[in-house]
Amino acid sequence: MSILANVADDLNRDHLRIDCEQCFGLCCVALPFASSADFALDKNGGQPCQHLQSDFRCGIHKDLRATGFRGCTVYECFGAGQKVSQLTFEGKDWRRDPLAAKQMFEVFPIMQQLHEMLWYLSEAITLKATTSIHQDLHEALEKTEELTLLSPDSLMKLDIPAHRAEINVLLLQTSELVRAAVPPRQKNSKKKGKIPGRGADLMGANLRKADLRGANLRGAYLIAADLREADLREADLIGADFRDADLRGANLTGSIFLTQAQINAAKGNTQTKLPPGLRAPAHWFV
Ligand code: SF4
Repeated sequence: MSILANVADDLNRDHLRIDCEQCFGLCCVALPFASSADFALDKNGGQPCQHLQSDFRCGIHKDLRATGFRGCTVYECFGAGQKVSQLTFEGKDWRRDPLAAKQMFEVFPIMQQLHEMLWYLSEAITLKATTSIHQDLHEALEKTEELTLLSPDSLMKLDIPAHRAEINVLLLQTSELVRAAVPPRQKNSKKKGKIPGRGADLMGANLRKADLRGANLRGAYLIAADLREADLREADLIGADFRDADLRGANLTGSIFLTQAQINAAKGNTQTKLPPGLRAPAHWFV
């Protein structure tokens, strides 16, 4: 059976979603926190969060936002936590196996990056616009999946920036192909605005009802931007910072490279239209 058997062409990315039940709370231990609006305390990498219980559940799960841990409701490991816990370390947890703990905490962020690449590649491969590069996408997906199956020692020796650079070439090609298929804007379009570009600084910008269809918003700073009822169809949103961006009524169907973490960081409502596979977080409705 192909190694890609679990990477369906119908965008079933369930194995690339956070599954805390199968994880030993790795993000709550391995990652460092700096006290900020997102985290109420400072914590070093490798140090368990004071709210992590002995059963690896969060003791304040229901009150994370109210108690200053908004960052925990936004974070997405892309399924790296359960992979490292159950596959790479074969179900050994860091409390019972302190010798493996340090290695486990080093491997976790490496796996998180590999799984993030899998998230983007498995989306790219389902898009009609990318037919001409499907073979390359399949090969990249297979190679990346193979890397996730390496031993802890081999994972720690990987050159992640070099692999990411290879993948990025394909993601850029995907972006060009998807956005080239967007119909040209009508000269008399009632929707306002000049199309911003890659890495644009749009912090707090008024983009209400903006026509951003097919825009290249890779890495754009959209913190607290007003995107109510904006048209973001077929926009490339990879790495865009949506913290506190207002997406109420916005249309993001057909946008590419959006992640659950980006959606979790934004505000939205029942009128926000999301791409398949992404869910409106509970805090949008409280
Ligand atoms: S507050 Fe809860 S979810 Fe956040 S790091 Fe601590 S234990 Fe994990």
